[in-house]
Amino acid sequence: MTRNQEISHNILELVGQTPLVKLQTITKDLKGVYYAKLESFNPGHSSKDRIALHIIENAEKKGILKKGDTIVETTSGNTGFSLAMIAIVKGYKCILAVSDKTSQDKIDMLKVMGAEVHICPAHVAADDANSYYETAKRIHLETPNSIYINQYFNELNIEAHYVSTGPEIWKQTKGKVTHVVVASGTGGTISGVGKYLKEQNKQIKILGVDAVGSVLKKYHETGEFDVNEICPYKIEGLGKTLIPTATDFDIIDVYEKVTDKDAAFKARDIVKLEGIFPGYTSGAVMQATQQYADKDYFTKDSVVVVIFPDHGSRYMNKIYSDNWMKEQGFL
Ligand code: PMP
Repeated sequence: MTRNQEISHNILELVGQTPLVKLQTITKDLKGVYYAKLESFNPGHSSKDRIALHIIENAEKKGILKKGDTIVETTSGNTGFSLAMIAIVKGYKCILAVSDKTSQDKIDMLKVMGAEVHICPAHVAADDANSYYETAKRIHLETPNSIYINQYFNELNIEAHYVSTGPEIWKQTKGKVTHVVVASGTGGTISGVGKYLKEQNKQIKILGVDAVGSVLKKYHETGEFDVNEICPYKIEGLGKTLIPTATDFDIIDVYEKVTDKDAAFKARDIVKLEGIFPGYTSGAVMQATQQYADKDYFTKDSVVVVIFPDHGSRYMNKIYSDNWMKEQGFL
C-alpha cells in the first residue's frame, strides 16, 4: 500500500489516486473480472474533487481568480462540496445553486463548509429563470470578481478526468482494462476517461449509464433531443434533461438506462455483498453492469472497471432509509 505514506501539506494534495478494488461477490455470476474505482476516497468523498481542483487551478494560472474572489456553480451537491473545500483552503467565497431534489444531508454539509446555498426547483426546464442553471448564471453576473465553474459546458471538466482518472485506470489495470462502466451526468467522467483509454487502446468499450427520465441515451442513439423522454426521477447526478457539451457522445459506445428502484436496491446489494458503502449512482452503475452482462457485453476475458462516484453516507435519508424506500413504494 503506497497511498498517503507522506505528509500532505493540505487536504487538496489528496485529490485523486483513488483505489481500484476487486469485486468479490456481487459479480460472481457474471463473465469476466470486475474492479470498482472508489471515488469516495477523494478528500471531498467524490469524483468531483478532481474537476473542481482542475478548473480552479486553471483559472488561477490564467490570473482570472485571485484570493478573496467568488466561485459560483450549479451542483447536485458533490461539486459544491469539493468547491467549498477548495474555497476554504485557498481563500475564496463560494456560492452554490442546488436543485431541490438534493438530499438534506448534502445541503447541510455545503452550509457547514461555508458555502452560500440557493435551492431551486428541479422539475423546471433548464432555461426557466428559476432553474439552478439560470440562478447560478444570474448570481455570477451580479457578483463582481466571480467565476462560474459551469461544469456542464466546461471542456476542463473532461480534461480533469483525461489527465487523472483515465491514466489511473490504465496504470492500475496495467493496460488490461477492456470495458469501463460510467455514470453520465455532466459527462466529464465518461468523456475524459473514455478519451484517454481509447487513445491507449481503441478496442476498450465505454459503457454509459443513464437514468429513466433523462434524454441522454436517446440523444446518443438518434441525435434527437426528445422531451417525451423526460420525467421526474430520484437519482441525483445521473442523466440530464439537457445536452451538456461536457459530454463527448462520440467516445461513448452505448448507454443503458436504469430505474430509481433498481439502482437503490443494487446500492444496498453492494453494501451487503462487498462491504463497500457507495452512493446512489454507484448502485446505478452496478445495475447497468448487470444489464450489460444480461445483454452479453462481457466474456470470461473481460476486465471491467466500474466507477463508483461517491459515498453512501450522503444518502442516509434516501436509499439507506427504509422509510424513504417505503415512501417511494420500493419496500
Ligand atoms: N454520480 C454522482 C453522485 C454525481 O454527483 C455525478 C455528477 N453530477 C455523477 C455521478 C456523474 O459524473 P459526471 O458529471 O462526470 O458525468
